[in-house]
Amino acid sequence: MSLAEVQPRGRYAPSPTGGLHLGSALVALISWLSVRAQGGAYIWRIEDIDGPRVIPGAAEQQMHEAQWLGLDWDEGPQIGGPYSPYEQSKRSSHYERALEQLASSERLFPCTFSRKDLKELASAPHGNDWLPPYPTELRPKQLPVKWFEEFNSSDERDSALRFRVDEGATSFRDLVQGVMTESVSDTVGDFVLKRRDGVFAYQLAVVVDDIEMGVTEVVRGADLLDSTARQIQLIQALGGSVPTYAHLPLIVDEIGEKLSKRNESLTISQLRTQGVSPSAIVGWLANIIGLTDELQPIHPNGLIEAFSWDRVRRDEITVSDDLPEQLARFAA
Ligand code: GLU
Repeated sequence: MSLAEVQPRGRYAPSPTGGLHLGSALVALISWLSVRAQGGAYIWRIEDIDGPRVIPGAAEQQMHEAQWLGLDWDEGPQIGGPYSPYEQSKRSSHYERALEQLASSERLFPCTFSRKDLKELASAPHGNDWLPPYPTELRPKQLPVKWFEEFNSSDERDSALRFRVDEGATSFRDLVQGVMTESVSDTVGDFVLKRRDGVFAYQLAVVVDDIEMGVTEVVRGADLLDSTARQIQLIQALGGSVPTYAHLPLIVDEIGEKLSKRNESLTISQLRTQGVSPSAIVGWLANIIGLTDELQPIHPNGLIEAFSWDRVRRDEITVSDDLPEQLARFAA
C-alpha cells in the first residue's frame, strides 16, 4: 500500500479516572475534527490498565459526555470494530506478545531495583517524583537465553521489565508544538514496560494499541509531550510506523494548575447541570483554541470543513472560575 492510500485513523484514549473536563473535551474535539476533516476513522479506546485508579462507571460517563457534545466514533468499546477489544484491561495478551518480541530482539531486561534504590543513586537531592536516568551500568551484562520464559513461568517475580533505549536524539515534528527533540537515554534512560506488581506500563500499552489499531495520528494534551520520544523508540523497536503527533495546550485554572477533580465546576457534567448547552461548550472550545474568530454556539459538525492545524494555538489556556455563568448566559 502506498502512503497516499493509508486511511487516516485517529483515536481518543482516556483513562477512566473521572468524567470529562474542559481539557479532556478539547482533546476529544480536536482529535475528532482532524480525523473527520480528512474523512478518516475515529477510534475510542479505554485506557484502564491501572486498575486501582479506575473509577467504576467513569468510562461509560466519558463516552456519554462526548456523545452529548456531538462526537461519534467508528470503532470502540460498545460498538466493536476490527481491532476489538478496545479496553486495555482486555488486551494483556497483546502486551505480552510485544514484550516477548522485545525480549527476543534483546531490547528487554529484568530489573530488581526499586524506585527508592534508584533515587539513592542521584548525586543531589531533587523533587519527590524525580529519578535519575536509569544508569546503563545496571543493565544485566548477559541474560540466559530463555530468561523471559523463565521469568514468565516463575511465581515469585520481584523484577520490573525495562526497555533498553537507544543512545542519541529522537526528533519529531509536532503539528502544534513544532520540532521537538529529546535524547531519551539522557532524560529517563531504560524505562519500565511492566511493573514489579505485574501491571503493564502506559508507555507499552499505548504503543502496542496504536500500532495494532493502525493509528496514524495521535492528538493529546501537552502533558504527554515528554512521553513521545520514548514511545517513538518503542514503536521503532516493535517495527511499527510512527504516527503524526499533535500535543494541545493544557487548560489551566486561575492558579495555573491543570484542570483536575478539584475544578468540579469545569467538568462537562457540572456545566450540563448548570444549564450550559453542548454547543456552547463546543463553541467556547473552538474559539479558545483558535478555530473560530467569534465565540458562538456550534455543533462539532459545523467545524469540520474549516478545520486547520495552522489555526490551533500552542500556548496554555487559562479559564476563569466564572466561565460556567458566562457560558450559561451565552447559551440562553
Ligand atoms: N490515557 C491517557 C490520558 O487519559 C492518554 C494517552 C494518550 O493519548 O496517549 O491522559
